[in-house]
This record gives sequence, structure tokens and C-alpha cells, in this order.
Amino acid sequence: MDLPNIMRKYIAYVNRYKSSLLGGLVLLGFGMSMLWRSAPLTLSTARASMVSADEWSELMGDLPIVVPTMKYGFVLDTFHVTEGLIQPNRFFADILMDYGVPWEKIQQLVANAKGTFDVRQLRAGKPFMILSPDVDAMPQYFIYEPSPFIYYLFDIYAGEVRRVERPLTTQVRTASGLIESSLWNTMVDNGLSFELAAKLEDAFQWTLDFHHLQRGDFFKVVYEEQYVEGRPVGIGRVLAAYYNNLGTEYYAIWYDQTEEEGYYDLEGRPMNKGFLKAPVKYARISSAYNPRRFHPILKRVRPHLGTDYAAPYGTPILAVGDGVVVKAGYTRGNGNYVKIKHDDTYATQYLHMQRFAKGIRVGAHVRQGQVIGYVGATGLATGPHVCFRFWKNGRQVDHRRLTFPPPKPLPKEELPAFFAVRDQYVRMLQQVPEPQACEREDSKPSSLPDT
Ligand SMILES: [Zn+2]
Repeated sequence: MDLPNIMRKYIAYVNRYKSSLLGGLVLLGFGMSMLWRSAPLTLSTARASMVSADEWSELMGDLPIVVPTMKYGFVLDTFHVTEGLIQPNRFFADILMDYGVPWEKIQQLVANAKGTFDVRQLRAGKPFMILSPDVDAMPQYFIYEPSPFIYYLFDIYAGEVRRVERPLTTQVRTASGLIESSLWNTMVDNGLSFELAAKLEDAFQWTLDFHHLQRGDFFKVVYEEQYVEGRPVGIGRVLAAYYNNLGTEYYAIWYDQTEEEGYYDLEGRPMNKGFLKAPVKYARISSAYNPRRFHPILKRVRPHLGTDYAAPYGTPILAVGDGVVVKAGYTRGNGNYVKIKHDDTYATQYLHMQRFAKGIRVGAHVRQGQVIGYVGATGLATGPHVCFRFWKNGRQVDHRRLTFPPPKPLPKEELPAFFAVRDQYVRMLQQVPEPQACEREDSKPSSLPDT
């Protein structure tokens, strides 16, 4: 090694040392004590983890800059690092023993982990990292990362285990899409996530029947994207959404300044209209309400007084409204089924369940959207589906033709505040270009400044 090289290494070393000191002080000045508490590492490592590349260069001024590789609050360059994914049927003790951690040490870690982490919960496919001071030395840290939001830090020398929550940051983003076949396919075509499809569907669940979307429909959405250390990890809330169904425009505006948080239309009327449009998400209607249907198993005309939603085995079935379970049992025709009384006028029934959800029995109170069972093919059924039946005043009716009384609007004194929020979101939605079938580039999500 020539002299300049040695000098560079020396400067890099000094830089590292300075960073943990200065970084800690500067960040203390930023008042980030909340973050400290959520990341209960030893102080030095917590400090190191808080220094971003930008802060680093600011701190270092004109000195040659060496930005270290940091992860889990450690400067990785100072360790011998082993990274991997948990293999199937590999246990905590196996992994540590392979790296030379003595059995007593492992026992101590397992014992001290009680209440923080059950080491039997290591999941195949999840990342882990082992940090050793040197190639031949006993590992000093084992880190297990079950999700982007948290990791577990095993300090092998100290025999201690900590759960570390990573701070989540949220950015407001917008997106749009043109429906070609389904909402899901549109999301995928536009590089958006299923999670966003699900949350958009939630916003419009009382308004739009997502089983009958029209080709050429389009949507725009303002939503929160969540990040951990700069990486997108999930979707937060849908804050505002626009849906154009054959030229009819629908808006959903998230408003949480009152006790009744939820989605409202442009006039401040809640979107929640009493009942969900369907008891399963992402299903298709395999057989509509039809008083003159030819029954596929019985081979004769028999009225079909329900709506069948085909969905894979085990798909959650949701109560379409608040109510009380009045039946939860089995018959040869219905299979496992649940009936819910919503009020003196309306009741709903869900047939052919694979099984009931926990706590679903006669007398149980259920909330709208609560999982009451799982899709199956019990009773007279050719395949997995839920036969959904809707009673009005004791008579079975086609729920898809019903209209319900208009919901109560926000109180008058709340409206000015709501309108201010609404106008802000509507402006954001208007800035999103309308998606074009042939110009997919337009419908890519675009970033907007935080609001
Ligand atoms: Zn049916």
C-alpha cells in the first residue's frame, strides 16, 4: 500500500469517528428525541443511523468524503458482514451455531428474548444479517427483519434483544388509470399496487359496483405512500378519489376532522350509504338474482333469489352492514351459512361458507366490513362462491336494484372546514392528467409536493 492510500484510509477512519459524534449532536439539536425512543439502540448506533448522506457531507465540509454503508444503525464497513434469507426449516439456534456462537450464549439470548421476540417465529424468506468484528471472530450481532417496519437486534455479547421500529414517512402522491378490464389489471398496467386498488375500492364501496366497471371508465386518486428509509413500503390512506363511470363523475373526499371520520362526497354527505355493494372484494358475479334461473345442479328452473359471487376458497366474506347474527349453522342446501339482521327492515344471508370467522354465532354483533366467514362450496354448490341474499321486510329482493335513504350530511358548522379540505383535494385531482388509452406514460403516478 502506497502512502497516499494509507492517508486516504486514515481520513476515512477519522470521518467515520467524527460522524457518530457530530451526527448525534446535530440530530439532538433537531429535536428528534421521539425517534430515539422508537429506536432503542445503544446511543452510538442510534446516532449513526440518523446521519443521511446529505447531512454527512454538510458535516464533513471540505474534507474528502467517504459515505459509509449503514444498515440497522451500524456502519457496516467496520464489521465482517454476512447477509441472507432465513431458509425453510432453519432455526435460530442452527443459524447462530453455524457461525460459532456457543450453545449457552444462544440459550441466554432465547431466554432474554422472551416477551420481545419468540425465536420460533423466524419466517423462511425473511432477511437476516450477522455482524462480526472479524472473519474468524464470534458474531457480535444477529439482526432479523420480519418486515420493512421493524427489525430485531440480538446483541450476542450482551445477551440482549431489542425490537426496533423504523420511522415511517408519508408522501402524498397522485395516480390515474383507465379501466380496460378490471381495476386490478389497470393498477398493475400502471405500475401501481394491489393495495391501492383495494383502498380505492374501499373509498367507493358504497357508491360503485366494482363488479360492473365499464371499459373506458377512469379514475384519479390522491393517496399516501409510506416509506421506510427512502424505500416505498406500502399505501397509507386514499385521501381523495375521482371516478368517471360512463361520464358520471364520483368523488370521495377523506375527512377526519369530526368524530365521523370517513369519505364524503362534494356536498359533505357521507359516502357510507348503509350497506356495502358486495360481501366479497375482487369477486365476480357468477349468477345474478334471477327469479327464473335454471339450476345447474338440480337441472330445473328454480328461482335464484340471491347473487352469487365466485371467489377462491378462503376469501373473506364481509358483513355488508352493522347488525346481529340471527343464524349461523348448516343445512344441506345452504351449507354453512350466516344470517344477519340489520334493522327492522333489512337482513342479509351468506351461504356455502367454508367456515365461520372467529366469534360468529347467534347473538353476535357485527360491524360493517367485519369478516364473518370464508368462501367455500359447502351445501349445494358447484364451486367456491358465496350466495348472498338480501331481505327487505321479510321478502328476498335484488339488492343491486335497491336504493337507500340519503345519508345525513356533515353538520352545518363543519361545512366550511370540509369545503376547504375538499377544494384542496379537488385541485390536486384536477392537476392529474386524464389517462389516455394509447399514451400510457400519462397515467404513470406523479409526485406532488407534500401538503
Ligand atoms: Zn346463489
